[in-house]
Formats: sequence, C-alpha cells, structure tokens
Amino acid sequence: MSDTSQMECPFCAESINSKAKKCKHCGEFLDVALRAAEEARKNNAQNVFMNAVTPVVPPVLPVEEKRSMTFLLGLGIVFMPYIFSWFTLRKGHTVGDRVVAFVWLIASFLVFAEAKN
Ligand SMILES: [Zn+2]
Repeated sequence: MSDTSQMECPFCAESINSKAKKCKHCGEFLDVALRAAEEARKNNAQNVFMNAVTPVVPPVLPVEEKRSMTFLLGLGIVFMPYIFSWFTLRKGHTVGDRVVAFVWLIASFLVFAEAKN
C-alpha cells in the first residue's frame, strides 16, 4: 500500500492524488497558490490585450506649479514687452523673469519715446 491517498477533484469529480497540484483529468489547478498565479497570468494577458486596444494615457500633470520662461514667451517679451511682460505675473514665474520682463518693458518704452522725438 502506497502513502498516496486519493481525493476527489472538486472540478471533475475524478479520483486524483491528494497531493496533486493540478488535476490530471480536467487540468484544473488544485493548489490555491498555483491557481491564483494562473488566474493572475490570465488576467494580465487580458489586460495587455485591452491595453493594446485602448492604450492607457498617462495622467497629464498640471504644469501650473512650475512655469518657466518659455522660448516663445521670451520672444514675445523681446518684441512686444507691453503685452508679454504681464504674462510673467502669472503664477509660477520667478521674480527674475518678472524683473527682466518689466525692465525691458520700461526700457522699450524709453527707446520708443526717444525714437519719436
Ligand atoms: Zn479534475
């Protein structure tokens, strides 16, 4: 007599080794851990497929907190300081940006006033 006791598979009711991790008759996993791993694998495969159909777009973080002087804003300030200097007053610009913008704003006024005279 062997020490391998038999049990009934809960899935197909066939007699199987009680130490079996997988039923030899129906192929179902009997080991809880293995079964969980198999379920996870299936779900992952499904998720990969779902992602391929509808790619998950990473959430766009608000850039409000840190706004740096962009090239376009810098260009705008150089050519139209009386409009673009005010943009540096928006939240996120550094004091340095504002000082440069407004010094240039005043300087450009002086230059234009000088040119008219
Ligand atoms: Zn079975």
